Amino acid sequence: MRIPESVKVPEIRIHEGKIELNSKNTAIIVVDMQNDFCNEKGALFVPDSVKTIEPISRLLEKGRAKGVKVFYTQDTHYEDDPEFKIWPKHVVKGTWGWEIVPELKPQPGDIVVEKTRYDGFYGTPLDHYLRHVYKIDNLIIVGTVANICVLHTAGSAALRWYNIYVPVDGISALNEFDMLAALRQIDFLYQGTITRVDDIEFV
Ligand code: ZN
Repeated sequence: MRIPESVKVPEIRIHEGKIELNSKNTAIIVVDMQNDFCNEKGALFVPDSVKTIEPISRLLEKGRAKGVKVFYTQDTHYEDDPEFKIWPKHVVKGTWGWEIVPELKPQPGDIVVEKTRYDGFYGTPLDHYLRHVYKIDNLIIVGTVANICVLHTAGSAALRWYNIYVPVDGISALNEFDMLAALRQIDFLYQGTITRVDDIEFV
């Protein structure tokens, strides 16, 4: 196969108009908004992640006002993590780079799930809390990186039959291709709803 220089982007549906979600069975998951990914001094900086901080913060404020449960995934590695064969050393537990960005600091009552791989469900109690403790059906997933930890967490959630909602202004990737590839999979493969932060309303 020859890799073409450009491809036609297939259909990606972005929902237009308001979406009302029940605050009782909806949770927000903030994926990996940590200094190493979201600060220019970080080890694996994703420049576009910076402009998602404000919309994510708005979403959290809106959700918290209605009692929506907030989860964070926190990518977490130790010194000899095998992921450092793939990526430069990042988010080593206890370091500045590992911390969630101060603008989105978790609040009392939020649940922070430390994860070792792209998928927020792999080897973590995320499903236990969502399904059994809080009886959650709808997940709003924001964070970074769109085609890596966001996509794998969203896909893993959809495979478990959660309804997934992804505000396009709350996710970020390293380039346009990666962003579009993630959106295409979220829409087409996982049947998620792509929306915008200001179109989500909690009732
Ligand atoms: Zn990692």
